[in-house]
Amino acid sequence: MSDVSVPNDVTLMEKVVNLSKRRGFVFPSAEIYGGFRSTYDYGPIGVQLLRNVKDAWWRSMVQMRDDVVGLDAAILSPPAIWEASGHLKNFTDPLVDCRQCRERFREDQLDDLTICPGCGGKDTFTEARNFNLMFKTHAGPVESDAAVAYLRPETAQGMFINFSNVLQSSRKKPPFGIAQIGKSFRNEITPGNFVFRTREFEQMELEFFVPPEEALQWYEYWCATRYQWYIDLGIPESKLRMRPHDADELSHYSSGTSDVEFLFPWGWGELEGIANRGDYDLTQHATHSGEKLDYFDQATNSRYVPHVIEPAAGATRTMMAFLLAAYDEEEVRGETRTVLRLHPRLAPYKVAVLPLSKKEDLMPMAREVLALLQPHLMCDFDETQAIGKRYRRQDEIGTPFCITVDFDSLEDGAVTIRERDTTEQVRVPIADLSIEMFRRLGF
Ligand code: ATP
Repeated sequence: MSDVSVPNDVTLMEKVVNLSKRRGFVFPSAEIYGGFRSTYDYGPIGVQLLRNVKDAWWRSMVQMRDDVVGLDAAILSPPAIWEASGHLKNFTDPLVDCRQCRERFREDQLDDLTICPGCGGKDTFTEARNFNLMFKTHAGPVESDAAVAYLRPETAQGMFINFSNVLQSSRKKPPFGIAQIGKSFRNEITPGNFVFRTREFEQMELEFFVPPEEALQWYEYWCATRYQWYIDLGIPESKLRMRPHDADELSHYSSGTSDVEFLFPWGWGELEGIANRGDYDLTQHATHSGEKLDYFDQATNSRYVPHVIEPAAGATRTMMAFLLAAYDEEEVRGETRTVLRLHPRLAPYKVAVLPLSKKEDLMPMAREVLALLQPHLMCDFDETQAIGKRYRRQDEIGTPFCITVDFDSLEDGAVTIRERDTTEQVRVPIADLSIEMFRRLGF
């Protein structure tokens, strides 16, 4: 989706992609072999950021609630699941080929159906055909039809097929949810825009099972709750919107879907979809598997199939949105600095411990400070280069606080805390450091 009224801010995109490579957030995969088709590897800093995005989601969706439990289902799955869910038949995009340059496009993403964006050819497209996005493979040594397996294209089906297992083992009752974070795979026709659309990506999904008469109320609750999650983690309201789907966009079983969208440099794009899915999924799996997937309510002595509200977000795509929203450049004392204003919960390192000089007398105390904080917080330790340069390096990767151990520290047992956003510095006794850091980080 793109919105033409939005300026095409290519430079921000280039800056973030360059920073990602230079500082170890995201590397193009298999680079030494020339790269591999829009796949990416998450480097030492990126793996932390991505993990923090997922942890923040898990914290708000599972840890802070008593009505949601977690799950980690298999990625490899038998065709029966995808037959029942409708993916084998319907999980397709309309594919067109350009007869002139042989490039392939998603028909629904073309601005003009008569002009090829690859070569400019006029009326060169073939008829659209449905292309299934699922990755097919074979489980075991024989490549027979009986051995066909699929890599899941979404995590959601894992929650539906385990509905009874979770219900019985956790003793939850509707309204309750099952949450999962994990890799999903889609053979996208046109991956691109860095990690916005890739063939291998991570999702964070909740299936929330409710009594049918409460579905609308819970749908509205989850739309509001999920929107607020992004705001609380620092996405400005000017860059975030909720877009309800038009009636013709809705899947046949959905009575309401809204997307949380972020203003990417090329326009508005989806971060998460929240759908009111009715009883479609449980009914489909019950019919195809022959197992009962419903709930017996002892209070009313009645049996019903719960309805499902599904907030489905992309972890990798959301990480990219946080990076774009956090990127800033500013002039400080006549020098331009790049600073990632990431929320402390998302910042790859919470603290960097920096001995003012490499001189041996400072090292034991600097190591002591590191040892004090390391069990509780992800810390970096950097003893190279001038202190100003080290501050800049930490600003660039979004470290909220630098702690400097200097020669006065040996006398007064105190260190300097330098704040990323304001560059303000305060002196704090090492004895108070842990408490002070937790207070400042807000957790
Ligand atoms: P799109 O319209 O962008 O293809 P979708 O509506 O098919 O997305 P869902 O099936 O609702 O996406 O998946 C939920 C979330 O998973 C999306 O909001 C997005 O954040 C993420 N996601 C989906 N496909 C991809 C992909 N190819 N690469 C990265 N993230 C993805």
